Amino acid sequence: PENPFHEDTDMPDFVRVRFAPSPTGYMHVGGARTALFNYLFARHHGGTFVLRIEDTDRNRFQADAEKEIFSSLKWLGLDWDEGPDCNGSYGPYVQSQRVELYRKYAEELVEAGFAYRCFCSPDRLDQMRKSQDQARISGGYDRKCRALSQVEVERNLAKNFPHVIRLKVPDDRTVVFTDEIRGEIATRSDLLDDQVLMKSDAYPTYHLANVVDDHLMGITHILRGDEWISSTPRHVLLYEAFGWRPPIFAHLPVILAPGGGKLSKRHGAASVLDYRKGGVLPEALVNFLALLGWAPGNDRELMNIQEMVSEFELKRVSAKASVFDEQKLEWVNGHYLAEKDESLLLNPVSALWREWGWIQSEADQEKEYLLTVIRLLKVRSRRVTELAQKAEYFFNDPVDFDAKAARKHFKPESSGRLRRILDGIEELKEYNAHTIEALFRELVETLGVSGGKLIHPTRLAVSGVSSGPGLFEILETLGRDVVKRRLSRALDMIPEPNHNPPDQGEISGEGDGV
Ligand code: GLU
Repeated sequence: PENPFHEDTDMPDFVRVRFAPSPTGYMHVGGARTALFNYLFARHHGGTFVLRIEDTDRNRFQADAEKEIFSSLKWLGLDWDEGPDCNGSYGPYVQSQRVELYRKYAEELVEAGFAYRCFCSPDRLDQMRKSQDQARISGGYDRKCRALSQVEVERNLAKNFPHVIRLKVPDDRTVVFTDEIRGEIATRSDLLDDQVLMKSDAYPTYHLANVVDDHLMGITHILRGDEWISSTPRHVLLYEAFGWRPPIFAHLPVILAPGGGKLSKRHGAASVLDYRKGGVLPEALVNFLALLGWAPGNDRELMNIQEMVSEFELKRVSAKASVFDEQKLEWVNGHYLAEKDESLLLNPVSALWREWGWIQSEADQEKEYLLTVIRLLKVRSRRVTELAQKAEYFFNDPVDFDAKAARKHFKPESSGRLRRILDGIEELKEYNAHTIEALFRELVETLGVSGGKLIHPTRLAVSGVSSGPGLFEILETLGRDVVKRRLSRALDMIPEPNHNPPDQGEISGEGDGV
């Protein structure tokens, strides 16, 4: 590949980054954050964003996982420039299709004396580990096969003994690299195991395939989660052995659960697509993920993807752990939900309504009606699913009434007022939020009660719950017939007063006045 590093400045002239997931399970938010940071970095610098599938661990391979990676990235809007489904000039972009290549490079290292064949059986390695445990030493591979003579190696090969290829880690060295986020990191080579590069199943390990591909694909910067930081010194030794200049490394801070521990399924370790199912909008998740370790530096939290692209800099990525706060995600999501045009919410929301049997098809309810319902509720919901749930009374007459609210608002003295409202609504010449509001104002005057005494029982009667969008808009949206029906039904439930109690005796000032 073309050498991206400028001779004089030792800085790359262009940016090529990659997201290199292993299809071993669902794609969780940590992976999505890594993908996003690579995407933002590439787009900020007008560079190239590569998607590479690292599927050489055949034991952990899951066929569906690859599809899930694609759909998660697509849903988040993180489009890649080169990858399995779009041909760049560095393909194939799936490691299982490049196995010959890794073999060739591993053999080269053996030739050059940087790696060696190891014929130790799994049993022997087990034994070795056990005695190391007993002796309380953490040795790693004891390097037995480093001592094999060429003749012994040939003999074993001729007998087709299974073997692996291991890296010959040099003694007494300090391996140093500079991490863009954490600064210089030095590791004593004695702490590094003679890493397996090629396994006995003829597949490469992550280490070999990753280094070979990052080099051959001209990757300039490696942005990855800091769980990989302990692999980096091994990779540095590999680059050295090959005589290649390593890319620039940047390890992204760990993401912790709110309590400080590891992410759990309940906190952040759920899959990206579970968030979609849970009613999170992709633009909200992207915005939220961007803030896990990065901040633009002006205390801004809400940003669309273009703004993030233009502001994103590695300099502003923190080394400190970031915390996955689901409530913050909901806050961000609520913001995007409120901003989103209702027509763009129609599909996901009405799909849920259909699933729950609240609507049959879109045609049988006026589309305008559905859009109005979404408009009224989107500003007071934190998730798409919550929005959909809150809409129940727009489709079904309430059967259960919020018990606490009913005790408070369905009292004998409410019935006379609700009857006046029902009559008034019946008589309105024009039926809309304004005329309804005027009616309520008039009744406040003539009955001499606070607005709340009219509004709360009415709201409860028509919706079954005690909070929601403005009452007059609800009444207009439901339409006169539905409102009349629901008011009458509520009236049937409310006990009639025995006598007319004076209004003064009641608690007043309970909320939304006219
Ligand atoms: N395949 C590794 C993963 O699953 C890639 C790590 C890296 O970016 O080097 O995350």
